[in-house]
Amino acid sequence: MAIHLGDAMKRALMLNQLANRSEPWDMAIVGGGATGVGTAVDAASRGFSVLLLEQHDFGKATSSRSTKLVHGGVRYLEQGNISLVMEALKERGLLRQNAPHLVHDLPFIVPNYDWWEAPFYGLGLKMYDMLAGKYGFGASRLLSKEDLVESIPTIQTSGLRGGIMYYDGQFDDSRLLINLVSTAAEYGAVLVNYMPVTSVTKDREGYVNGVVAVDQDTGNEISINARVVINATGAFTDDVRRMADPGVTKMIAPSQGVHLVFERSVMPGDSAIMVPHTTDGRVMFAIPWHKHVLVGTTDTPIENPSLEPVAFEQEINFILETAGKYLSHSPSKKDVLSVFAGIRPLVKMGDKANTAALSRDHTIHIDQSGLLSIAGGKWTTYRKMAEDCIDHATILAKLDEKPCVTKNLKIHGYLSRDRADDPLSIYGSDAHRIKDLILEDATLGQRMHPALPYCRAEVVWAVREEMACSVEDFLSRRVRALLLNSHAAAEMAPQVAEIMAIELKKDKSWQDEQIAGFRLLAQQYSVVSNLHAR
Ligand SMILES: Cc1cc2nc3c(=O)[nH]c(=O)nc-3n(C[C@H](O)[C@H](O)[C@H](O)COP(=O)(O)OP(=O)(O)OC[C@H]3O[C@@H](n4cnc5c(N)ncnc54)[C@H](O)[C@@H]3O)c2cc1C
Repeated sequence: MAIHLGDAMKRALMLNQLANRSEPWDMAIVGGGATGVGTAVDAASRGFSVLLLEQHDFGKATSSRSTKLVHGGVRYLEQGNISLVMEALKERGLLRQNAPHLVHDLPFIVPNYDWWEAPFYGLGLKMYDMLAGKYGFGASRLLSKEDLVESIPTIQTSGLRGGIMYYDGQFDDSRLLINLVSTAAEYGAVLVNYMPVTSVTKDREGYVNGVVAVDQDTGNEISINARVVINATGAFTDDVRRMADPGVTKMIAPSQGVHLVFERSVMPGDSAIMVPHTTDGRVMFAIPWHKHVLVGTTDTPIENPSLEPVAFEQEINFILETAGKYLSHSPSKKDVLSVFAGIRPLVKMGDKANTAALSRDHTIHIDQSGLLSIAGGKWTTYRKMAEDCIDHATILAKLDEKPCVTKNLKIHGYLSRDRADDPLSIYGSDAHRIKDLILEDATLGQRMHPALPYCRAEVVWAVREEMACSVEDFLSRRVRALLLNSHAAAEMAPQVAEIMAIELKKDKSWQDEQIAGFRLLAQQYSVVSNLHAR
């Protein structure tokens, strides 16, 4: 049975529940990104006892660094992967149904400069509409040159013939993740951030039966028993697999993707641009997001994933060059407000024998030690990935099978989206509680920076109700300041640190450390200040 948030999402209470449990957990999940937290929601809502441990903050890695699309994947259509597209289109529809405060539809325009593009892409996008069936977001249509210019006034008009408009979904990835953490907690799951798993434990027969984790706040080590351990660590999947068996064959081929963020004036209007074929054969998007424009992405294989990947200069140049071909005023490095990179946990299974490739998009792998790993897929399909994962985990853990209930499960914050321009609308049904804070103390209503809409009350809310532990947690993932405008975010850091210090009862040296650490991080998100380092 669901419990109410109130106290559900508080780190100290989570730790308390963890310390007080003597029974093994039904399921222990390692990794607090979309995959792990989605899996926690699925398992907890089926009635299993669930613990999730995240080494840093929820969403610190890839799940806060996506292109913010809830989509079927137009490019998989071209590859003829119909079932994958249909699955993702259905999940797109379910996500908008279950989290309408964060997921909405957005018109996308494919501009046509060659005669063959309108019939070719027009047909493909009709197919995309058709495959969505009852989960459709709206019919695609041809646009005249004039209609296109009206929708995207800064489009490159030289050689422009017209375009095709279709609909897909857009969301705020880390806000959705935080709401999913609340949802899992309301169903009784215990989720702790800043608690890395450092090793796994095994029974006498050599099967994984738990994990050892360290509380980053106190340094305390804790050993945890579980009937099944689920490894949902994205690009770090092989590191955790090696804890159980140092000799395992690698299953992840990490690939980096970069985004640049600009002022809205670079591409005003409410439509996105989709470029179906860049010079390197990829898809690129320019999308309006939180009153800015986000452009990306790239696909660069990398050797060693890190929690703070850095964009390569050639990736930045490639995005600027591609944007310049489609926009009347080519944006330059000095126009970039923020640059961020994420790492795709692509699966390249060598050892097919133990792998259930449930869809070509995500993979569930069970090692001989009994460690279950789930990787690949995309944000859009996190719910289906979680359903498949828990179906397998239930059998592996010898638990009674229980049906998945997430298809129609409302995600925390659920509220029919009113399109009013309220900056607090990202909080859905929680917005009124933030407004209550401002009613109690009007100073909390003060905006923290002229370039961004965030007010002081949101810091208080994030600490009290959303387990924000650092200035970065707030500025990067509870609100999106760092990704939208790294310079403005750095300027907000002292105010955020001051408010957090009061809430968390921290001293001045904590504040100074937080401000210095965040400013250093923000430099990495600034193209101009970091050019020399690339
Ligand atoms: C550039 C880019 C753009 C994308 N755009 C889209 C998009 O528009 N739409 C879409 O649907 N999908 C998109 N995706 C895909 C989507 O973002 C990913 O599939 C998804 O976020 C992966 O989530 P995850 O939970 O598997 O991995 P992650 O989010 O990386 O989570 C793994 C977590 O495990 C934690 N962890 C690692 N080791 C340990 C340990 N020892 N102990 C505890 N915790 C640990 C990490 O800190 C991390 O938080 C994009 C991906 C990229 C890279």
